[in-house]
Amino acid sequence: MKLVLATSNKGKVREIKGLYQDYEVIPYSELMEEFEIVEDGDTFKENALIKARAVFNALNDENIIVIADDSGISVDILDGAPGIYSARYAGADASDKDNLYKLIDDIKNKDATSSPAHYTAAIAIVTSKAEFSVHGWMYGHAITEAKGKGGFGYDPMFIPDGYDKTLGELDDAIKKELSHRSKALSLAKNILKTL
Ligand code: IMP
Repeated sequence: MKLVLATSNKGKVREIKGLYQDYEVIPYSELMEEFEIVEDGDTFKENALIKARAVFNALNDENIIVIADDSGISVDILDGAPGIYSARYAGADASDKDNLYKLIDDIKNKDATSSPAHYTAAIAIVTSKAEFSVHGWMYGHAITEAKGKGGFGYDPMFIPDGYDKTLGELDDAIKKELSHRSKALSLAKNILKTL
């Protein structure tokens, strides 16, 4: 089954391809020129559906299945920030590194060295006949140091529950087992089997 991904985020594409080895996974940027999608939903689910619908409509092929991921990290001591604003936490054109160090600074500014935190992933599936969405979560702590080079985004400052190392330091296989994205994609597989 051919799945078009409504993202070109390299970290997400790598993880989704790794988890969906039975499928032909194609980032939409390989089929058409990338375009800006205004993510103006109030939830991860709304933004995932906005992205999947935008790419489905742009490709204009009723036989395709589009998958979108909207995800982010929520930090308790910051009342759930950055949440749905994770990608643009340090500004509209912020890099993953800018966002990571802003989050570290914001936790430090609360006079803390760590805080409970969790990642959320909403996966949306859009076809010509139906729309679906599922979620996955991963709980742990955000710390005020960046450690390790694995994963992407906020992973160097996130320690999953049950571990004492960040996702930047842990083996990729562990994130594959635990992550918010893995959990949501595994639920999404059950839906894909029915299509
Ligand atoms: P989106 O592309 O609008 O969904 O933005 C996702 C944002 O959350 C990006 O800034 C990512 O760096 C961050 N993010 C989402 N999932 C992960 C993850 O698994 N690890 C680290 N950062 C993540």
